[in-house]
Amino acid sequence: MVVSAFALLLGAVAWTFLEYVLHRWLGHDARTRPNPFAAEHVLHHSRGNYFAPAWKKGLSALGVAGLLIGPSVLVAGPLAGAAFVAGLVAMYLAYEVLHRREHTHPGWGRYARFLRRHHFCHHFTDPSCNHGVTSPVWDWVFGTLREPGRIRVPPRLAMDWLLDPATGDVRPAYACDYELIRKG
Ligand SMILES: [Zn+2]
Ligand SMILES: [Zn+2]
Repeated sequence: MVVSAFALLLGAVAWTFLEYVLHRWLGHDARTRPNPFAAEHVLHHSRGNYFAPAWKKGLSALGVAGLLIGPSVLVAGPLAGAAFVAGLVAMYLAYEVLHRREHTHPGWGRYARFLRRHHFCHHFTDPSCNHGVTSPVWDWVFGTLREPGRIRVPPRLAMDWLLDPATGDVRPAYACDYELIRKG
């Protein structure tokens, strides 16, 4: 039981590593492009609220889980092996929800605010930094962590939650973290 719980946790941590690896080296490394992940990821960057279709994400997740389940069971036995893959898939689903909500909702609390600044610094300031979405840990490990400062957002790509509909500008509550890029 303890072993399975540990395997579940290890699977969740393994996803956070995979999240970093896929995003950095498939999404943003010229040496691996073009590839199907990068094609979708370029659209996510260039259109603001675009996310790859659920069926593509579902098929990829099934494919990765299918590849991992055999070796995991061989190494750790049926229960712990399955728990490892279940932890990884559960964390992947949490990542999908969290990433979408970073774009669609302002979030609550300090960590939500921190994660949004971490992610939108990647989107709008420097795509070669801050690849982690659920945590900054692997950016710290691999030396790609960047302090966002005040993030300059192109108006065309601004998240709905960031803008005050009355003024079209950044809501006062977020003005210390973000500003719109004004022409002229
Ligand atoms: Zn994003
Ligand atoms: Zn990216």
